[in-house]
Amino acid sequence: MLTRRDWIIGSSALALASAGGALAQEAPRTKQFVIDCHGHYTTEPSELGVYRKAQIEALSDPAKSPPPSSLKISDDQLRDSVQIQLRLQRERGTDVTIFSPRAAGMSHHSGTAETSRDWTLVCNELIHRICGLFPQNFIGVGQLPQSPGVRPDNCLAEMERCVKSYGFVGFNLNPDPSGGYWRDPPLTDRWWYPVYEKLVELDVPAMVHVSASVNPNFHGTGAHYIAADTTAFMQFVTSDLFKDFPTLRMIIGHGGGAVPFHWGRYRGLAQDMKRPPLEELLHNVYFDTCVYHQAGIDLLLKIIPADNILFGSEMVGAVRGIDPMTGHSYDDTKRMIDAAGLSEEDRRKIFETNARKVYRLDRVAALNSAGRQ
Ligand SMILES: [Zn+2]
Repeated sequence: MLTRRDWIIGSSALALASAGGALAQEAPRTKQFVIDCHGHYTTEPSELGVYRKAQIEALSDPAKSPPPSSLKISDDQLRDSVQIQLRLQRERGTDVTIFSPRAAGMSHHSGTAETSRDWTLVCNELIHRICGLFPQNFIGVGQLPQSPGVRPDNCLAEMERCVKSYGFVGFNLNPDPSGGYWRDPPLTDRWWYPVYEKLVELDVPAMVHVSASVNPNFHGTGAHYIAADTTAFMQFVTSDLFKDFPTLRMIIGHGGGAVPFHWGRYRGLAQDMKRPPLEELLHNVYFDTCVYHQAGIDLLLKIIPADNILFGSEMVGAVRGIDPMTGHSYDDTKRMIDAAGLSEEDRRKIFETNARKVYRLDRVAALNSAGRQ
C-alpha cells in the first residue's frame, strides 16, 4: 500500500520530471521532510464566527455572553474545513504544519480578560481537535487569553493546559494586546516575566505575533504585523532578557519584519549603545520564512544564519493571491527556498531540524517515525 509519504515522494518526482526550466535540470533530490512552522486556522466553520459575534454583542451585558460549551462544531465540519490546508500541503510538498488559531481573530483588544479567556478556550480546543483528527498533518500552537492592561499572569493556566493536556508545542505571544496602540510595557519588561518563566518551565517557544489592528494608521497584515516584528527585535537588542532567560526561545514571524533588511542599522545601534553584538541574540531568537518574494527570501537567507531560520508560509493567511510575475502563490515560500541554491545541510536545517529543535518536536509521537531523526 502506498503511504502518504511515498505518495509525496512520487508526486515530487513527477513534478520535477514535468517541470520546465531550472527545476528539470537539477539533480533529483531525496524528499526532504518539511515542517511549516507558521500556519493559522483561517478556514473555520461559520459557527465559530457566530459564537464570536454573540460574544462581542454581549459585551455590554456579560450575563448574555455565550459559554464556550454552547459552541457546537462536529468532527466532520472540522475535517471539511481543513481540506484546503491539506490540499496545499500536498501540492507544495509540506508534510506537517505547526498550526494555531487565526492570528487576527485573537483580537485581544475586544472585551475583557474574561472575553479573551472564553474565546481562547474555544479557539485552542478547535486546534486540539484538528490535530487529533490529522496528527500527521498538524501540530498545535495556542493563542493566549491576553487582554490590554491585564498582567499576563492570567495566561499561565491556559499555557499549562495546552501543553500538558493538548500536547501543544508553543504559543503566539501578542506584544500589543491593544490592537495597534501599544499601551502595555515592552516585551522585555518584567511585566511579561511570568509568561517567560512558564515557557521555560514547559520548554516551549513563543512566536511574537500581534493580532488585528484597530488603529487606522496601521494596516493589520501589511503594517502592524511587520512593525511589531521589527519592534520586538529592537526591544531584544536593548535588553538583557535572554540573560535572565537563557533557554527562552522566541520566533519572530514574517521573516523578522524589517530586521534582515536593516541588519546594519541594528548592528550599528547595538554598537553605539554598548550592547552585545547581535549574534548573541541568535542563541534565543529565530526567524521564519514568511517573506513573499524571491529577493526577500534570498536576503533573509544571506543575512540570518541557517541555524536561526525556520520554514514558514503562513498559509492560508495574510496574502492569498497569485503573483502575476511568477504565476505562483505569494505564500508558496517553499518554492522560493527551493530556488535559493541552499546546500543540502542548510535546506535540512530550515525545512526540518531547526523546527524539531526549537519546538522540541521529539515530544510529538506522530513525528517520531517521520522524516530524518
Ligand atoms: Zn501568522
